Amino acid sequence: MLYRAHLLSPLDPGLLDLEDGGLAVDGSGRITAAGPFAELRAARAGEEVLDLRPFWILPGLVDLHSHLPQYGAVAQDGLPLLPWLETHIFPAELAFGDPDLAAAAARVYFRDQLALGTTTSAVYGSPHPEATHRAFQEAEAAGIRAIIGKVMMDRHAPGGLLETAEASVAASLELCAHWHGRDGGRLQYAFTPRFAPTCTRELLAGVGRAARATGAYIQTHLSENLEELAWVRELFPECATYTEVYDRAGLLGPRTLLGHGIHLEPGERALLRAAGAGIVHCPRSNAFLQSGIMPLRRWLEEGLSVGLGTDVGAGPSLDLWAEMAMACTASKLHAAGQRNLAARLARMEGGTERERTRIAGALHLDPEPPIDPLRALRLATLDGARALGLGAVTGSLEAGKDADFLVIAPERVDPAPARGPEPAARVLSRLIYRADPAMVRATYVRGRLCHSLTT
Ligand SMILES: [Zn+2]
Repeated sequence: MLYRAHLLSPLDPGLLDLEDGGLAVDGSGRITAAGPFAELRAARAGEEVLDLRPFWILPGLVDLHSHLPQYGAVAQDGLPLLPWLETHIFPAELAFGDPDLAAAAARVYFRDQLALGTTTSAVYGSPHPEATHRAFQEAEAAGIRAIIGKVMMDRHAPGGLLETAEASVAASLELCAHWHGRDGGRLQYAFTPRFAPTCTRELLAGVGRAARATGAYIQTHLSENLEELAWVRELFPECATYTEVYDRAGLLGPRTLLGHGIHLEPGERALLRAAGAGIVHCPRSNAFLQSGIMPLRRWLEEGLSVGLGTDVGAGPSLDLWAEMAMACTASKLHAAGQRNLAARLARMEGGTERERTRIAGALHLDPEPPIDPLRALRLATLDGARALGLGAVTGSLEAGKDADFLVIAPERVDPAPARGPEPAARVLSRLIYRADPAMVRATYVRGRLCHSLTT
């Protein structure tokens, strides 16, 4: 099949931006070519053409961090991380003790992700093995590419959500054996210790061993909120930093996803870089729970692997377009905050140059320009795929990759009637800042139509 549309995709390096583009997809759901339509057509006489103009084709989006059982508890404002977990989240996760309820919730979850253009999703389940099994079944049926794991906790949570370390690892291994690598790798397992405060050293070490033995992913949270950091220091006094807790347990590697990573010290960043672990930026969640603003530009320039996550239920929806907009906004707020502080410091009365430099260092003052929508799109596609080690499989419109792509109707979010051609960056900026589910006309995973507004 040859799809004809405006193609827009990050490449490595650069950008694919073709007004009259063609995307050739073979019967196994793989992209065989992406280029000018006329060229592809000439080389493929007789191949069926689906003319999608004036729509655009973009790569499918990659959501690296969200919590399936929290979907029903989204948008409950007013609390920072730790009391929010107690008040809103643990009760929602307890409800997943009912596998039928969990299956129904998973069906809605993956349907909504596909409808918003998410084709790859890393998901936390509840601690219940049966609920997680049912989530995998729903992901298998929906057609989404999914990395799922049951949450693991052996302390500091309600009794109904706790297990022993041994039982938690055993149940996770059983799920992993059943699901990891299923359907040619479309479904994969992630060992999912919630975060250091709810896991003993024994459980964390067990996760490290299990992940090494199976080659599955690890997903957990890191350095989200200052109260959390203080708690981790109290619980793990032998570790100089939060990242070291995970490093000592053998959890850091190229198949590790760490949600948030806002308050990281230079030594922690060095550990993460060396391990090739991925950091998941969840800016809507970070604002919602008053956690902070990640210095995204600095993390990127230091060479950390960063992708985007909606972090439902602290993020209000599964909408990665809104997450891209917030990533740009948070980056601008961070840059403005840094500039304003630097200006105030420069005007500080009575201080010496040396004192000013010392204060700027203590505040980590380092004004950087904010990211733009094209950079945000890269984070939500190719960078996310790379953080999963799937950079050769998905994340861009390139020959050899699976055909994970979206058909987008830019005019649905454009208030100006009959606009003429304009640069892709302008169109993308509207798609991100004015996103509407009606603009996602169709979502394909491996060439399979998984969502369509017209059928
Ligand atoms: Zn989370």
